[in-house]
Amino acid sequence: MELRPLGNTGLKVSSVGFGASPLGSHYSPVAEDDGIAAVREAFRLGINFFDTSPYYGGTLSEKVLGKALKALQVPRSDYIVATKCGRYVEEGFDFSAERVRKSIDESLENLQLDYVDILHCHDIEFVSLDQIVNETIPTLQKLKQEGKIRFIGITGLPLNIFTYVLDRVPPGTVDVILSYCHLSINDSTLLDLVPYLKSKGVGVISASPLSMGLFTKQGPPEWHPASPEIKSACKAAVAHCKSKGKKMTKLAMQYSLANKEVSSVFVGMGSVSEVEENVTAYRELQGLGMDQETLSEVEAILEPVKNLTWPSGIDHK
Ligand code: NAD
Repeated sequence: MELRPLGNTGLKVSSVGFGASPLGSHYSPVAEDDGIAAVREAFRLGINFFDTSPYYGGTLSEKVLGKALKALQVPRSDYIVATKCGRYVEEGFDFSAERVRKSIDESLENLQLDYVDILHCHDIEFVSLDQIVNETIPTLQKLKQEGKIRFIGITGLPLNIFTYVLDRVPPGTVDVILSYCHLSINDSTLLDLVPYLKSKGVGVISASPLSMGLFTKQGPPEWHPASPEIKSACKAAVAHCKSKGKKMTKLAMQYSLANKEVSSVFVGMGSVSEVEENVTAYRELQGLGMDQETLSEVEAILEPVKNLTWPSGIDHK
């Protein structure tokens, strides 16, 4: 598996990253043993980057990931773990200094780790971005000095949250951003922001290559926020691939992975077969390249909804 540098962190992360939200049964129930086997298989196939949050399954994802990583019985430096703070199932959003401090201690316990490589502020568009700049990030800097986290990240859906924060913190304060659902065949708007992010020296992670289930044969979960138009266009794209004996998941993975400015693509996986399929998609991209004919056909189907997204959080102008 190709390792790519992550901004200025010095970390070398696998281009396919393991999204652990399915380990918290965020999409559909995933048995603990299946989740643990998926992590083991991912690591065996060269994936070294694992992403979770206390929000996924109300800490369940962190706990299962922690068990799975421990069971690998490899040196801690062989894998890179990102978790998040500020978003919780019961409490909602809380990015206060006090909650974030408590959060990292809880996460380290859930994960059975002494430190995490990255701590992200989870979905910052739901709160005052000035709080993130003036209270949360300075607290994370202290956690860095204390050795509980190595790097600081921010995540969310609207792309303007990243420029808002990065324009207001000293250079090098935020190490990484995690964007999701903006580097998929239906929405590639992250690419417009990449030159700005590079100029800030920030590592770029893109999550949800399958647009949070829109491109899977089982379809999106009940809570998926896309409009009916987006959902039906994506469903039509999946059906088109199926009719040609092709896999939409493979095409979608390859589309996200093809952009090397993005250090890692986090795909959510809850079974060995999903891990194997997604790593095969990566390998085939390296070997054969993309199926350009099917890609063009799918792009034509998705054209009416291209770059349409959905509202998330407060509208930060
Ligand atoms: P995704 O687009 O990666 O889709 C995941 C869904 O697709 C899951 O139901 C999974 O079981 C299924 N799947 C995966 N591979 C498959 C395959 N080959 N065939 C059929 N189905 C397959 O969406 P995601 O899980 O939301 O995103 C990936 C990860 O990125 C998350 O797990 C999380 O770690 C991270 N993420 C973070 C944020 C944030 O910080 N705000 C938002 C979204 C995602």
